[in-house]
Amino acid sequence: MEPNTENKLDEVQRQIFDRIAKNDVNGFKQLITQLKEGVDFVDEDGMTPLQHACCKGNKEAVQILLDMGADIHFNKHGADYTPLHFAALSGNTEVCRLILDAGINPSSLNSVSRTASQMAAFVGNHSCVETINNYVPRKTLEYYTRVQGQQKEPLIPPGMMDLFHQFVIEINLHPVRIALNLQSLGLLKNLQGLKKTLELMCDKEMKKTNDVNELMAFKFHYLGWIVSELMRCEEQCKAQRKEKLNEVDAGKHDFVELFIKRVLKENKIGQLDYIEFTLRDCVREFPFRDCTVFRQVVSQLAAKDPQPALVVFRNAINGHRGFADDTSYCSSCGNEKPDKKCSKCKQVKYCDRECQRLHWFMHKKTCARPTSNATASTSTSSAKEPIDTAELHEELSKITTS
Ligand SMILES: [Zn+2]
Ligand SMILES: [Zn+2]
Repeated sequence: MEPNTENKLDEVQRQIFDRIAKNDVNGFKQLITQLKEGVDFVDEDGMTPLQHACCKGNKEAVQILLDMGADIHFNKHGADYTPLHFAALSGNTEVCRLILDAGINPSSLNSVSRTASQMAAFVGNHSCVETINNYVPRKTLEYYTRVQGQQKEPLIPPGMMDLFHQFVIEINLHPVRIALNLQSLGLLKNLQGLKKTLELMCDKEMKKTNDVNELMAFKFHYLGWIVSELMRCEEQCKAQRKEKLNEVDAGKHDFVELFIKRVLKENKIGQLDYIEFTLRDCVREFPFRDCTVFRQVVSQLAAKDPQPALVVFRNAINGHRGFADDTSYCSSCGNEKPDKKCSKCKQVKYCDRECQRLHWFMHKKTCARPTSNATASTSTSSAKEPIDTAELHEELSKITTS
């Protein structure tokens, strides 16, 4: 069999580019098995199948190519775009994640000295900007899964490494989402180790000799703060249980519910008092005061008519999204583009029933059918309090996809 030269593609290779261009994953899968010499070959523009699949934002094709050993560093592209540059331009955050997990250096520059994240910002792919900027390589976390110095056991059990990684790279900084993530990832039983690890990660980031990422250090401090707030709720729940021994345990993780209710509880003018106070405490406790992110957050919180602290934090860590941002957010956990909404008033959106259930204790005060006008609705629906659980269940069963 004659080996191919760089510029001469065989028929299978040519068709592979064609299938990727057409997003024909099934056709692509069939052809890829017929390749004789690996997946790192280029078309007339110097692009590999991996780069094309990234450009198309085709997660499945990207995954197949990576599984087949595609080299993320193999680059013949004239403008020096890495697969991450193409992924960032495609707008698909999952493809960005796959390439980051494969070990790409996110600071790699293209021929016009732009990083992938800057390219994503340029075309308005904010989620990709956030995905790339919040990324932490697995290997920086491995240290904490090993026994260090006087420790008897590591701060993070090695088996939890992947879960901890998922937790740390999450881009949604809403405290409710952080708590729900800890719960769904099964990390609640290790809050103490998690808190210590995040403190150490913050410290280590700020004390690096070069390439200090202040924003990530601040994020680690913030995540550690939320974890310690959850631990406080856990203590309170334990104390309450001791007081009322005759009451049956309401559920293992009732402290998560306590924390979430605290976060979502609005005062009379719709502000989130608890979050406002605790985030201000969180800033006050940030140990590195001589850095840009600290000064920026402090000056914004001290401004006349400041934005909510959570917004200040989000903007500080993830950057401003600009005025044209009309993205909708889950009223409970702040996730982007939730696809469910309250079937009764159609005014608020949620990721799922759980998010709706958690927010209902606040939302029931303002929820009403869209036919009644705003002033009438508040007086009628809030007067019916407390709404019995049967009504909430009925409400939840009616949740619709918008
Ligand atoms: Zn949600
Ligand atoms: Zn409603």
